[in-house]
Amino acid sequence: MATPDPALADRVRGIEPSGIRRIFELMATMEDPINLSIGQPHYDPPEALVEAACAAIRGGKNRYTVTQGLPELNALVLADTTARFGRRPETCLLTAGVSGGLVLTFLCLLNPGDEILLPDPGFVMYRHLATLCGASVRYYDTYPASARGRFRIDLAEIERLCSKRTKIVFVNSPSNPTGGVLTRAEIEGISRIANQHGAFVVSDEIYDLFCYTDDYASPVSYADRCIQLGGFSKTYGIPGWRMGYATGPASVLDAMKTLQQFSFVCAPAPFQYALLAAMPNVDLAPYRTQYRGKRDYIVQHLHPVYELAPPEGAFYAFPKLPPGADPVAFLDDALQHKLLIVPGKAFSQRDTHFRLSYGVDDDTLARGIAVLNELARRYA
Ligand code: PMP
Repeated sequence: MATPDPALADRVRGIEPSGIRRIFELMATMEDPINLSIGQPHYDPPEALVEAACAAIRGGKNRYTVTQGLPELNALVLADTTARFGRRPETCLLTAGVSGGLVLTFLCLLNPGDEILLPDPGFVMYRHLATLCGASVRYYDTYPASARGRFRIDLAEIERLCSKRTKIVFVNSPSNPTGGVLTRAEIEGISRIANQHGAFVVSDEIYDLFCYTDDYASPVSYADRCIQLGGFSKTYGIPGWRMGYATGPASVLDAMKTLQQFSFVCAPAPFQYALLAAMPNVDLAPYRTQYRGKRDYIVQHLHPVYELAPPEGAFYAFPKLPPGADPVAFLDDALQHKLLIVPGKAFSQRDTHFRLSYGVDDDTLARGIAVLNELARRYA
């Protein structure tokens, strides 16, 4: 990597480009790649939503909205959260994707020297935003405790990692990159520990509607101080619309709103109107069923060959590399077969796994799984 320009501010020096970017660059040079590296669904948004967006743009809904977003859409989000988790957060703010919500939350809560507990493995953005705020990251290990285990939380470890400086205990369920879903006991336990330490639980629930277990739990139900970050990018098939929301205590959400006034200004106006008009009529169940089917396919065809905790949500799987495989050589071998996957170390302190996304059509998925099975035979 080139030496950074000395003119750059200190706060961006620790921020490296995403490990996934190299894969995108490689893909651009390939013919007919099998791309299982993408973090977005493969389908177009439901027709009703597209129609509502076009109608909003044609209908002149192209100016700013108020900073916190349309009151009716805020009310819809709050009613939904209350109905699902049995507690009504004090207030809500519409954000520019969950990314926008993450930026505002971290900037409003983290002082230099504060500590944040993050899952390992975990989504790449969290640690960089923490670094930007000068906070220290402490990772809690979610890797399976045994070869047949699931990605999980060890509450005794959370207890050990919490200190007087712990400001945020962060959870992401369903998880990117593992597809793991936290149990109610884990969510309740981690919230209790955060409560005892006076820490916030920040919960990234962007994949909440793609949960294949019966019981989806959120810290909204248990944490004294919870910031819930939710979004529409992944499940509604609209990552480019940049729509998300945050709920939580007014004392924090008001500060986030002020910061939004001086940064993002508001979430994209026509898409706020589109979601308001169409969301109540859109049924995501067929998409969820389709993705659960893809999950089943992966588990069936990969599970005996690779050590894999069956994913319970989102559209990712995080298998272990074959025994003895060098991570770089394995990914290069996959590339030789035109298969793009993401190295585990892009998400983790360890370099023992890889992420594949099944947000692709069935044919691409089958081709990718065939390559992985071929590679496993070679490494056996
Ligand atoms: N959180 C997680 C766990 C994600 O995987 C992503 C997207 N990759 C985001 C947040 C950001 O999503 P968006 O800004 O599109 O809402």
